[in-house]
Amino acid sequence: MKILVTGGAGFIGSHLCDLLISRGEEVSVIDDLSTGSLENIAHLNSHPHFQYSVDTILNADLMDRLISECDCIVHLAAAVGVKYVLENPLSSIETNILGTETALKLANKYRKKILVASTSEVYGKHMHAPLKEDDNLIYGPPSTMRWSYAASKLVDEFTAIAYHRTKKLNTVIIRCFNTIGPRQTGMYGMVVPRFIQQALRDDPITVFGDGKQTRTFTYIEDVVQAIYRLIKCEKGAGEVVNIGGTEEISIADLAQKIRDLAGSSSEIVFIPYDKAYGKDFEDMMRRVPSVEKLKSLIDFVPDTPLDDILRRTIEYFRAKAS
Ligand code: UDP
Repeated sequence: MKILVTGGAGFIGSHLCDLLISRGEEVSVIDDLSTGSLENIAHLNSHPHFQYSVDTILNADLMDRLISECDCIVHLAAAVGVKYVLENPLSSIETNILGTETALKLANKYRKKILVASTSEVYGKHMHAPLKEDDNLIYGPPSTMRWSYAASKLVDEFTAIAYHRTKKLNTVIIRCFNTIGPRQTGMYGMVVPRFIQQALRDDPITVFGDGKQTRTFTYIEDVVQAIYRLIKCEKGAGEVVNIGGTEEISIADLAQKIRDLAGSSSEIVFIPYDKAYGKDFEDMMRRVPSVEKLKSLIDFVPDTPLDDILRRTIEYFRAKAS
């Protein structure tokens, strides 16, 4: 099977490429390197089943050729990371909405199955757990730019569902919850690589707000395993599916845990949100997925314990720094 991975030089994309190649699949990548990096896929370059193009998914002619040549698309290319989206509000909306529209239009032209990556951000500010795929979504006002990320991804979801309903296109929407592991960069705001790098340097670990906000973290290997199974799964067309771990932890406890596991002497400091992200920022206070639907579709749920994920990720950053 030949699979086109948009955003294949990114954190999730490059791990997906590794898994696909290890399973004997052919892989084609398109990535504009806005947040991805050639370093992530350098080890695959000479593989006979691997090819990549450095270009934007808004290049419709190139996307036309790449989609015509593949059997299935995993559309991961997007503006990601709260910090990145806040710093690049317009291009983030354009990439997320126009890029996905291009991918879906061409998937429909060539009748190819397409997995569209969405995000747990789309749930907005819920406090209940677990979050189910058919829950209502709660956002703040458009003056709070954070919600543009959720809203742009929600437009992607509506578009994918509309292609399924009106054209019977095989679309599957995946909502990924805080994926972590080796190769993730802290440059765009993601908390775990930031905390680990701060801990390894014995710099202050910067908890934003009071640290009582919670997240569940998902190991990258579990995420790509779930994506692979969804590629092969006969069911799921037109569905939205959560992919996430279920071990809930507060950000303050996460800081403590990372400091302990890294054997660091970092101080843990609390930074008000307006100092971290500027004014008009709103955080999500809780985010835990229901994984019932994922399990019913692919008989697999992410279950790598958080301590193990953190240990492996700390080792990765330690080796990278030395
Ligand atoms: N966060 C933090 N310190 C940092 C980076 C992030 O306390 O240096 C917090 C952030 O405010 C949020 C949580 O960690 O409550 C997860 O942030 P991230 O940007 O990784 O993901 P998201 O907010 O999209 O879940």
